[in-house]
Amino acid sequence: MPASRLDTLPISHWGLDLRRPLVIAGPCSAESEEQLLTVARALKSDGRAQVMRAGVWKPRTRPGQFEGAGEQALSWLQDAKRETGLLLATEVATPEHVEAALKAGIDILWIGARTTPNPFSVQAIADALRGNDVPVLVKNPINPDLHLWIGALERLASAGVTRLAAVHRGFSWFERTPYRNSPMWEFPIRLKAAHPDLELLCDPSHIAGNADRIGGVAQQALDLGFSGLMVEVHPDPASARSDADQQLAPATFSELLDELIFRQPAPTAGMNDRLEELRDLIDQLDEEIAQKLGARMDIAERIGDHKRAHNVAILQPERWDRIMRRQLRLAAHLGLGETFVREMMDAIHRESIRRQSLEGVDGVPVGNPSASSKGA
Ligand code: PEP
Ligand code: MN
Repeated sequence: MPASRLDTLPISHWGLDLRRPLVIAGPCSAESEEQLLTVARALKSDGRAQVMRAGVWKPRTRPGQFEGAGEQALSWLQDAKRETGLLLATEVATPEHVEAALKAGIDILWIGARTTPNPFSVQAIADALRGNDVPVLVKNPINPDLHLWIGALERLASAGVTRLAAVHRGFSWFERTPYRNSPMWEFPIRLKAAHPDLELLCDPSHIAGNADRIGGVAQQALDLGFSGLMVEVHPDPASARSDADQQLAPATFSELLDELIFRQPAPTAGMNDRLEELRDLIDQLDEEIAQKLGARMDIAERIGDHKRAHNVAILQPERWDRIMRRQLRLAAHLGLGETFVREMMDAIHRESIRRQSLEGVDGVPVGNPSASSKGA
């Protein structure tokens, strides 16, 4: 990836008196003045969110769904700010949105996951922002492509936007995962490694897609040193006109914040700190690799049980061929060497087979005796 520089100001220098961790909360969509006031009052009385978010123009995957209340919602937002003092954030996807949002005094703009991957749209927004110092958050593109994410940030930076941060909201992925959008933490980690001064926020709502999973994702982001969170909060999630499954009622949101452990940011500056920071990122990735391998072996064991129950051979060469071909295709995309990937996959395969056999190759019974995950 060509190296680039992003001259960005830290969130604490955005002139908005923002605290770290920055907490942004509010409904997916602005639906009515009443709805916004209700959320704003609840957020104000909780006191931990400094910014209220609400989508005024909603990019929907399919037509015919609620596409946002449009410009009228900007005056509802202004009323909520007047009453509560909360700062405002909304999504912009066109120069017209930028113009209307700036005119309405919206404090922070964000570019959504369906806009970031389109260089024409991002450039048009960047051009509309030239000469403004409004902060802009750039959500990752919906597809796992780091270059598109960085490209969007670069377009804004080239237009003179210095109050920039990135928002990790997960990636659409073809395989079923427990999440609506796979977190693929390696992407924000790689972004941070390439641009250590760029601050990252996490949107656990769009990653989780489901209220129950938001806490776990949010905690992971905080553990990885993210600078803050953007969480969807709705006065009555069940009746929300968009993203109903993932919005939290204000009381649940407060409970979530009570439970999260907010950590001190790692110090930055100087060569050694930079090295430490990069080592930290490596350690986090290694931990994820180990966790994923552990999960893979657990599943392999369950497949082993199943094969035994149905009297099927443990080793199935055609299946392994398919896995290897697929991994090599992925590896080519990711710039990983073929020999390395073959050797790594062969080692994983050997361990899977060992775990699928009743007894390990060393004669040691396999499986983790204390694991409650078996049979779960
Ligand atoms: C949103 O924040 O409501 C939204 C549409 O998010 P994303 O662009 O991440 O899908
Ligand atoms: Mn949403």
